[in-house]
Amino acid sequence: MAFEGLTGRLQDAFSSLRKKGKVSEQDVQDAMRQVRLALLEADVNYKVVREFVNSVREKAIGEEVLESLNGGQQVVKIVYDELSELMGGEQAEVVTSYIPPTVYMMTGLQGAGKTTTAGKLANFLRKSKNMKPMLIAADIYRPAAIDQLQTIGEQLNIPVFSMGDQVSPVEIAKKGLEEAKAQNRDLVIIDTAGRLHIDEVLMTELKEIKTAVDPEEIFLVVDAMTGQDAVNVADSFNDQLDISSVILTKLDGDTRGGAALSIRKVTGKPIKFTGTGEKLDALEPFYPDRMANRILGMGDLLTLIERAQEEVDEKRAEELAQKMAENRYDFNDFIEQMDQMRNMGPLEDLLKMIPGVGNIPGMDEFEMDEKELDYMKAIVMSMTPAEREDPDLLNQSRRRRVAEGSARSLNEVNRLIKQFKQSREMMAGMSGGKMPKGLGQMFG
Ligand code: GDP
Repeated sequence: MAFEGLTGRLQDAFSSLRKKGKVSEQDVQDAMRQVRLALLEADVNYKVVREFVNSVREKAIGEEVLESLNGGQQVVKIVYDELSELMGGEQAEVVTSYIPPTVYMMTGLQGAGKTTTAGKLANFLRKSKNMKPMLIAADIYRPAAIDQLQTIGEQLNIPVFSMGDQVSPVEIAKKGLEEAKAQNRDLVIIDTAGRLHIDEVLMTELKEIKTAVDPEEIFLVVDAMTGQDAVNVADSFNDQLDISSVILTKLDGDTRGGAALSIRKVTGKPIKFTGTGEKLDALEPFYPDRMANRILGMGDLLTLIERAQEEVDEKRAEELAQKMAENRYDFNDFIEQMDQMRNMGPLEDLLKMIPGVGNIPGMDEFEMDEKELDYMKAIVMSMTPAEREDPDLLNQSRRRRVAEGSARSLNEVNRLIKQFKQSREMMAGMSGGKMPKGLGQMFG
């Protein structure tokens, strides 16, 4: 999980402040020293850390905060505001062209996730903005890069333009653009070559492509796991190519946070998306304020609800609420909702988006055993359709058959059925559908 160490250390820094109410200048100084160390430890650029801490300190030592009765809370609020500002403040939208097609160029070092992200971005914009994308394979050097893009295109059902690896990338980009116009595609995403390190030849080639196709956006894809290196790469690419924005990949790993917190300040360019997994839908718009919340361990309910809404079909959700209210919720519904929830990402990540849950002692080490969920599913799948619809049919001999079929113990089968029935009664008692949309379905 990203930012874990940083969140823990910041929470330590604020725990005594929060309790205090009125705070002294010395309290603020002490907390700021801890914040400084926490940020340095998270691999945030040292200049960025210095400026950040100075700015927070200046605001926090102001008279208003020191005189106030909830000074501790106010200091935390100042840190939140400054963190959010550091990452760009407002969410940065993608730029599109008035005259289609809109052209995007993907750049970055080898392995950063460029090719995968080209596919993710095409998929995301098709879904969210109804665009008709075409991918262009202009990385002719990395063996298999073209095949990889073609495979991604097939998976997403998005056309991929390629001319093999014997034609110059500039030529491929130009021809691809013509082809996109001919096919009435309104979005073109060009996958360019990467190298292990930045070199002259690569930069020259990228500049030539840029001149040839005049892109609306040049996205630089960087790997968040590489910390300060990611920031240095972004700085060099920006110097040479004047990139428009950054996409930070692999935020699903246990990255410390340095890249996310430094890139905007060092390059002046916003992070527009983050990659949160290997699957082609694991791309999220970057919201500085939500990220600041997450870093401070205050959760990220908005993202959680959005993910839930993506998975859940409104009409179906209402049907389910109705079934719950009438005590008709069955094992088929149970499996459907369990699958939906698992599609939203690893459970421990989801739990941490709920405000307060990240602060529960031991939460850092918490790892949900996803196998348990597989076992539950195996048990339900071993029931007959009639049993799934009406769990009351499950007498002892049927339960024994289910246990054998799923290779779980009879005890486990009994427990699952008992818990299922208990929760079903409880849900009916709550007369369903009263919870906020999205959350109701998840925890219902
Ligand atoms: P390229 O050389 O820059 O084109 O990189 P690729 O697109 O081939 O990606 C390199 C590896 O990183 C692949 O195994 C991808 O599946 C993986 N990858 C890309 N983005 C993410 C991400 O956001 N999270 C995770 N966990 N893996 C990613």
